[in-house]
Amino acid sequence: MARTHPGRLTIAIVGGNLRSASILRLLNEVDNLSVVALADNNQSSPGVRLAEELGIFTTSDISELYQVRDLDLIVDVSEDAATRVLLEEDCPSGVEVIGSRGSEMIWDLLVAKKRGEEQEKLFVELQVAYDKIRSHERKLQSSKEALERANGELEGRLAEIFFTHEFFKALTSFSSVDDVTSLIVDGANGILGAEISCVYLLDQEKWLLRLRASQGRPEHFFAAAVPVSETLLGRAFTEGTVQETDIPDGGRSARWVCEPSDLRSHAAIPLRTGDLIVGVLVVASSTYREMTPAEIERLQVIANQSSLALQNALLHEELERLSVTDRLTELYNHGYFQQRLEEELGRASRFAHTLSLIMLDIDDFKVFNDTFGHPRGDKVLQMVSDAIRENLREMDVAARYGGEEFVVVLPETDLEGARAVAERIRRSVEALSFIGGDGIPSVRKTISVGVASYPRNATTQGKLIETADHAMYVSKRSGKNRVVSAE
Ligand code: GH3
Ligand code: MG
Ligand code: MG
Repeated sequence: MARTHPGRLTIAIVGGNLRSASILRLLNEVDNLSVVALADNNQSSPGVRLAEELGIFTTSDISELYQVRDLDLIVDVSEDAATRVLLEEDCPSGVEVIGSRGSEMIWDLLVAKKRGEEQEKLFVELQVAYDKIRSHERKLQSSKEALERANGELEGRLAEIFFTHEFFKALTSFSSVDDVTSLIVDGANGILGAEISCVYLLDQEKWLLRLRASQGRPEHFFAAAVPVSETLLGRAFTEGTVQETDIPDGGRSARWVCEPSDLRSHAAIPLRTGDLIVGVLVVASSTYREMTPAEIERLQVIANQSSLALQNALLHEELERLSVTDRLTELYNHGYFQQRLEEELGRASRFAHTLSLIMLDIDDFKVFNDTFGHPRGDKVLQMVSDAIRENLREMDVAARYGGEEFVVVLPETDLEGARAVAERIRRSVEALSFIGGDGIPSVRKTISVGVASYPRNATTQGKLIETADHAMYVSKRSGKNRVVSAE
């Protein structure tokens, strides 16, 4: 028998019950086989109705099945013994008949196959769902990260705003130069996270920049004084804010740095009010750092705001200095001398220390003035003052007592120590040539000096001054140009 569809199984079903309908539906979905006919007595059974729906030939006469071309298999699901007998007797050779057992097995296989397909479908659906979840999760993660970043930035900005607010509040209440300059370096650190920052103030007389406050490195890292020209600091004076992001050679070329260092980047911002330059703020880093325009702007806000406070503080400092300084000699004035002597005596008494007082007067100064004129006399007063200053320690207090008389307070110094200092000053003055050169004979001056000590010679302020003054008087009386100790 010739096959129309080689490899394809042609099947007829006998029986139209519910099981038959189910087998038909399942077989109909299987490739490589086709159900071509269904026979049942009852033409309205579920099997027959489904077969009609699917366009499959139906009949109530089993023998009609035998007419079907190329029929390979008859599946009997009728569960009717008579039908079974009939089929076995009449079925043409070459057509296999599968009875109830066989059809049950087919049913099981078909169900298993179906389940497998369902599972596979489910698995694919699950896979798709899982992929979707993963992608959602990724999206969620990235938006979470973006949120966290934004949050972090916001927190940073908030901290900065908070710090800036505190900074400006502090600025208005700080009045000393040291306070304001420390605040500026702290501000550069707090607002910009500057690793190193320092403030140099302009010494207009010497055209030098002097270190006033620093942060981020020990003080010896910074040069105490820097010439204005040749440096980034000087460039800031003329160009405004300047930065160098990659300084060669570890920053050795940065003149404001004292020792060979690890410096990589630095920037200088002028501290100015209007045209008046007060100093310069330097920020620096040991790593490559390029400040953004926004950062530079913030730095300039700090610089501009603090410049005014700084100028006020400098003015205040200068006024204070002037109020205690003698104009001509730049030594302390009489008022400050009395105040400091009182303080130092208090301290000496508390800690049971000694303290000495030197009093000196220029010899025959009236004659000098009368001979060479007052301006030259002033010059002598200045030179004698320098000679005094040069022979003192940092803690000593030298003042112009009045006219051509000077006093020096020497804390923690006994009578012998003070006498030695007085002697050095006397010799220094003696060696000075006040007028002369260019063929004119040199004119020299001498001083008479008195020394007294606390508590050895006097225990009160008035008495100590009186005793030193008396010693000086004795020096005058005994020939001038000498040091006389009290007692
Ligand atoms: P003696 O050796 O006894 O101290 O004599 P003396 O001439 O120095 O003393 P006297 O007290 O008679 O004169 C002090 C002079 O110092 C008088 C005054 O002209 C001068 N003198 C005081 N203050 C100044 C000053 O600021 N500038 C100048 N050029 N002279 C001053
Ligand atoms: Mg005199
Ligand atoms: Mg005098």
